[in-house]
Amino acid sequence: MNFDQSQALFRRAAAVIPGGIYGHTTPAATVPGAVPYFAAEGFGCRYRDVDGNVFIDFMGGYGPLVLGYHHPEVEAAAHAARQLGAAFNHPTPLLVELAEKLTQRIDFADWAVFAKNGADLTNWSIMVAREVTGRPKILKIRGAYHGTAAWCTPGHGGLIPSDRVDIADFPFNDITALEALFAQHRGQVAGLILTPFHHPAFADSVLPTPEFVAACNRLCREHGALQILDDVRCGFRLTADGSHSLYGYKPDLAIYCKALANGHPISACVGRASHKAAASRVFLTGSYWSDPAPMAAALATLDIIAREQIPQRLALLGQRFVDGFLALGKKHGVDLIASGPPAMPYLRVKDDPSFMRTQALCTAIVAQGVFIHPHHNWFISAAMTEADIDEALRRIGIAFDSLPTTPHFAS
Ligand code: PMP
Repeated sequence: MNFDQSQALFRRAAAVIPGGIYGHTTPAATVPGAVPYFAAEGFGCRYRDVDGNVFIDFMGGYGPLVLGYHHPEVEAAAHAARQLGAAFNHPTPLLVELAEKLTQRIDFADWAVFAKNGADLTNWSIMVAREVTGRPKILKIRGAYHGTAAWCTPGHGGLIPSDRVDIADFPFNDITALEALFAQHRGQVAGLILTPFHHPAFADSVLPTPEFVAACNRLCREHGALQILDDVRCGFRLTADGSHSLYGYKPDLAIYCKALANGHPISACVGRASHKAAASRVFLTGSYWSDPAPMAAALATLDIIAREQIPQRLALLGQRFVDGFLALGKKHGVDLIASGPPAMPYLRVKDDPSFMRTQALCTAIVAQGVFIHPHHNWFISAAMTEADIDEALRRIGIAFDSLPTTPHFAS
């Protein structure tokens, strides 16, 4: 597979863009030189890069493309809204329709607000928690990603110590540590923010224990802190009505983004009536916040997700993929670890702390036209059929065959 155009564009990018490509799609996050850097066109569960290579896509834009590229119904809805105008002086009726849809769909939600990115609303949500409680402290999970703001970015640049003075973190599923933080900061905790399951980069995904979920619910209630569910990555992929309903969380606020509008830029935060007045006092706006086309896309996407039982479909397809992948590992003598729910699986080579064997495996798989990532969970697309999964597995089998059989690779 040839990446000449990607490489040439990257050289041009590096001249005029800090880091060339920044964020999670930076080549530094994969295996430099072994994956495309620039995309050209998407169709269904496949995309073509600028060199003309076509991939079966198991990353889906790192989450947004839940229904696949160019879903006709979503695109028609967005296009119809776009024909009427963009970013008006006022919101359009779609704002109200979308808020109504989310409050009808999500059991605890009495209101909704919208922005563009997940981080817009994870930031806003902790301000709402502080406004509601009049307290400063936010508890979060160690290693969890909530966005680019100074209180939570995994980056190191530009931070000053005071950015994190009111943030305390603890390991996922660790009830004792959570209890200790609530005791240590008694009367000071505004909120606990967490993702429905733990999906860190460079590590296995971890599902919540029922005891942990119950402890989060209980401790937030006992201490008068808001529970904030960052459902940006999982929301509407695991269930049609928010991931809290799958695991039993009782959130006060929840944030959705990636699967909300199948690639159109919009995020949402929903909350309870008891926090509505406080929420109205936390300033929220943006140059494009009223833009109707992403709202139309979100309404269509939410309808399709419920009508076509997309989460169930993703789970079945994902299970077929994970089972097939594990069987291929066994056949080739490579021990694999699978983690996460099947709709958002992550597999890596066992006993591979440097990730070098996992990277070698992913590189070989990408070379066969299946795009997966060595350090980040994957996303099953509803545009996939069982035949697409089987085709991906066939190619992964070829990738296994191409791996060096040296002890360096074999587990
Ligand atoms: N929270 C989680 C769990 C995420 O996965 C992400 C994005 N990867 C964010 C927040 C931030 O969302 P955005 O990149 O849209 O700002």
